[in-house]
Amino acid sequence: MLRLFDSSWGKTDGFAYAVDRSGALQAADDFFRHRLREFGPFEDAMAAGEYTLYHSTLSIYLNNGLLGPQELCDRAMEELGNGNAPLNSVEGYIRQMIGWREYIRNYYEAMMPAVRHANTFGFKKALPRSFWTAESEMKCVRECVSAVLETGYSHHIARLMVLCNYSNLTETDPRELLKWFHFGYLDAWQWVVLPNVLGMGTFADGGVLASKPYVASGNYINKMSNYCADCAYSVSKKTGPKACPFNYLYWNFVDRQQDAFEESGRVSFMLNLLRKKPDEEMAEIRDSSRRYLDSLERYEL
Ligand SMILES: Cc1cc2nc3c(=O)[nH]c(=O)nc-3n(C[C@H](O)[C@H](O)[C@H](O)COP(=O)(O)OP(=O)(O)OC[C@H]3O[C@@H](n4cnc5c(N)ncnc54)[C@H](O)[C@@H]3O)c2cc1C
Ligand code: SF4
Repeated sequence: MLRLFDSSWGKTDGFAYAVDRSGALQAADDFFRHRLREFGPFEDAMAAGEYTLYHSTLSIYLNNGLLGPQELCDRAMEELGNGNAPLNSVEGYIRQMIGWREYIRNYYEAMMPAVRHANTFGFKKALPRSFWTAESEMKCVRECVSAVLETGYSHHIARLMVLCNYSNLTETDPRELLKWFHFGYLDAWQWVVLPNVLGMGTFADGGVLASKPYVASGNYINKMSNYCADCAYSVSKKTGPKACPFNYLYWNFVDRQQDAFEESGRVSFMLNLLRKKPDEEMAEIRDSSRRYLDSLERYEL
């Protein structure tokens, strides 16, 4: 990496994180007063230039011990009681904390150390160069990597449905992606980042954590964000040089990883759709994917 960047990676201009307990409490207060209300309706949304939206950005303080999960859940309940936040937002927030966070901790305890080497699809390639530079014709990739470079943060849908999705669809070694998450995110503690990347994000553990691979075409990103309106690629085009790469890479992935889809009842319908595609369309999907993957610049750590 140091060969690519003359000093270190990432930016510190505008550093605005708390560094002690009182600053962390202020950050929490700011979230509960101003953003919790809209957390429920917008927790899966992404918007250009808006890295935080209605998220708490408190994971770093939870992981480094400046804040505790119980006090944050209690405060969320207080906001419900005061009428300052609706039930769907409070429920959504507490579900993330005691559903996902606690589940992830237990998974880590149960699955380590063997899961460190998980790579169910056997992908061996290095990360696309855009993960390191944020330079990409793909608006969604540019935005989501820029968030990490500039702030050491992005929210869960950017992590899952853009960055992990792109890594998997480009057949990248998930352990290389895990290293990148460690470099990039301020909240990357091994017990939480590893299950999220190797379990949820890339399905590298073969489906122990998640019941399906979280891969998607451009349609999903278009539904959840305003990125596609300002992208060099067209989200409505399925194949060819101007088509959104997520569109053909998605079907290419389903085609090449049929076993994983076969075993998951939740997504076996995708296989049925794949098998109904005419041969001509499949040939175009495979051709666009091969061209894209062959020309993709990657960067070896
Ligand atoms: C690929 C991938 C990598 C991730 N890496 C990390 C990581 O390194 N460190 C980390 O703390 N979280 C990680 N997460 C989980 C989640 O994305 C972050 O906790 C969340 O985005 C942090 O931002 P926030 O505090 O604004 O969260 P909010 O959206 O405000 O959510 C509230 C809290 O719920 C907890 N939470 C929600 N989802 C999860 C989850 N899947 N696992 C654990 N806690 C969760 C966090 O503590 C978070 O602060 C990852 C998720 C994915 C899909
Ligand atoms: S068109 Fe495709 S590549 Fe461009 S922003 Fe949308 S999903 Fe991303």
